[in-house]
Amino acid sequence: MGKDTGFKDFERKAPAYQPPEDRIRHWDEFVIPLSQEEVEIQGARCMNCGVPFCHPGCPLGNVIPDFNDHIYQGKWRRALKALYSTNNFPEFTGRVCPAPCESACVLGINRPPVTIKNIEVSIIERAFQEGWVEPRLPRKRTGRCVAVVGSGPAGLAAADQLNRAGHTVTVFERADRIGGLLRYGIPDFKLSKHVLDRRIDLMMTEGVAFRTGAHVGVDYPAAELLAEFDAIVLAGGSTRPRDLPIPGRDASGVEFAMDFLTQSNHRVAGDEIPEGTDILATGKDVVVIGGGDTGSDCVGTSIRQQARSVTQIEILPRPPEGRTVETPWPVHPGPRMFSTSSSQAEGCERDWAVLSKEFLADGSGALRGIRAMRADWSAGRPEEIPGSEYEMPAQLVLLAMGFLHPEHAVLDDFGVDKDDRGNCASSSHRTSRDGVFVAGDMRRGQSLVVWAISEGRECALEVDEYLTGRPSLLGAKARSRSDVALAR
Ligand SMILES: Cc1cc2nc3c(=O)[nH]c(=O)nc-3n(C[C@H](O)[C@H](O)[C@H](O)COP(=O)(O)OP(=O)(O)OC[C@H]3O[C@@H](n4cnc5c(N)ncnc54)[C@H](O)[C@@H]3O)c2cc1C
Ligand code: SF4
Repeated sequence: MGKDTGFKDFERKAPAYQPPEDRIRHWDEFVIPLSQEEVEIQGARCMNCGVPFCHPGCPLGNVIPDFNDHIYQGKWRRALKALYSTNNFPEFTGRVCPAPCESACVLGINRPPVTIKNIEVSIIERAFQEGWVEPRLPRKRTGRCVAVVGSGPAGLAAADQLNRAGHTVTVFERADRIGGLLRYGIPDFKLSKHVLDRRIDLMMTEGVAFRTGAHVGVDYPAAELLAEFDAIVLAGGSTRPRDLPIPGRDASGVEFAMDFLTQSNHRVAGDEIPEGTDILATGKDVVVIGGGDTGSDCVGTSIRQQARSVTQIEILPRPPEGRTVETPWPVHPGPRMFSTSSSQAEGCERDWAVLSKEFLADGSGALRGIRAMRADWSAGRPEEIPGSEYEMPAQLVLLAMGFLHPEHAVLDDFGVDKDDRGNCASSSHRTSRDGVFVAGDMRRGQSLVVWAISEGRECALEVDEYLTGRPSLLGAKARSRSDVALAR
C-alpha cells in the first residue's frame, strides 16, 4: 500500500529516455534508470485503495500493492518474492509491457498512476545485480518428460513452471536462437538480448534443455515427439502475417515487417546476412503500413538504419486523445486512445484514415511509391473520399498489419483441431488430442508478452495435473485463474 499520504506528497516520476538525437545512433536500450531512493518514493504513491484494480488489470495477477509497499519500506528482497510469485520473467514485462495495470490504477482516476512497470523492472534488475536471482532447482524429479514447441515467452514460461514442478523439459525451437519474438521481433533498443540470454542461461542451469534449429513437424515429426514425451506443449506463436494484395504487390521493396525486423535483429547480433537478401531502410523513403507494436518497431529500426524519411500510415481514423465512453477507467484503452511510442517520437510522420490503393513500381519493377486515398469513417466503415487520391514516394514499404493465425502445418502434423480464426482450438489449454496442450499466441492469436507468460503458466498447471493425476502444486491456481478471467 505504500505511504498513507504518499499519493499526495509525491509526484509521479517515470525514468527519462536519452534524447532522440542520441539514442537513434545506437541499438542499445535508452531508458535512464531512476535511483533506488527514487523508486522507493514511487512505491510510496500506492495508496491503500481497498480494491486494487491494478491487480486484476495485470494479466498475470501480479500482487502489485504488496511489492509497492515492500519497495517503499526498502524491503527489496521481499518485493522480489512477491513479484516472482506470479511472474517468471519480470525483466521482460518490465521493459515491453504496455502496462494495463497502470491504466487500472485507482490513483489514475484523477492523478498520474503509480509507476508500476518501472517498479517491477527496478526490483528484478536490482535482484540480478545483487545476486539474489539464484537457480531454483526442483527438489526431486518426477521422471515425466515434456516437450515444449516454441521458445517465445509462452513456451519459456511453461518450461520454467514445469521444470520447477520436477518434470524434465526440452524446448524445441526452429530458429537458431531461443526467445521467439523477444529475440527476433522486438528490437534490441526495447529489449536488450543480454537480458534474454541471462534468463535462458539460468533456465539451463535449472535443468531445462533447449534444442535450436529444431523445426517440429519438419525435422522432428509429431509422431516422434508423441512417442518420446509424456506431454507436449505447443507454443509456436501466431506467425502468418496479414498481406495487402493490391495492384503492384510484387514490386521489389514491398516487404513483410517481420522479415525486415528479423533480419535487423540478426544484423545487430553480428550475424552475416546472405548476399542479395538485404532489406535495408538506409537512404530510403520508408512507409510503414499498420500502427501497432510491430509498425512502431519498424519505425525505430528504419530511423536507426538512417532512412531518408519514415511515414506510418493507418487505415483507421486517428484515435481520441483521452478516454471515451468506450474506454472508461479501468479499461486499458490500448490503440483506442492516441499515444506516441518512443520510436514514433524519434521522427516519423503519422497519418490516419489512409487507404492504400496501389504500389507503384518503376520500369525495373522497383517500388517508387504508393497511390492512396483518404477514407471517411463517419458511417463506421472506410469509404473512399472522391478526389482525395494522392501519391507518396516510397522505396521501401513495410507491411505491419497484424497476423492471421499460427502456421497450420505443425497443428496438422499433431492432428489437433483449429478454431474459427485458424488458431489452435483448446479447452483450458488442452487441445483435441490427448496429451497435447497449447499456450500463447498459437491459442489466443497475436497478443502481448504478458499474456503469453500468463498462458504459459496456466498451461503448465494443466500439464502438471495431467501428468501427476492430482491438483497441481504449481501454486496460485485459484488466484491466477479468477484474476485472468476478470482481466479478460
Ligand atoms: C514486432 C513485434 C513487436 C512486439 N512488441 C511487443 C511489445 O512491445 N510488448 C508486448 O507485450 N508484446 C509485443 N509483441 C507481441 C508479443 O511479442 C507476442 O504476443 C509474444 O511474443 C507471443 O509469445 P508466444 O510465446 O506465444 O510466441 P512467439 O514469441 O511468437 O514464439 C513462438 C516461437 O515458436 C517457434 N516455432 C513456431 N513453430 C515451430 C515449430 N514447428 N517448431 C519449432 N519452433 C517453432 C517460433 O520460431 C518462435 O520462436 C510484439 C510482436 C511483434 C511481432
Ligand atoms: S506485467 Fe505488465 S500489467 Fe502486469 S504489473 Fe507488470 S507492467 Fe503491469
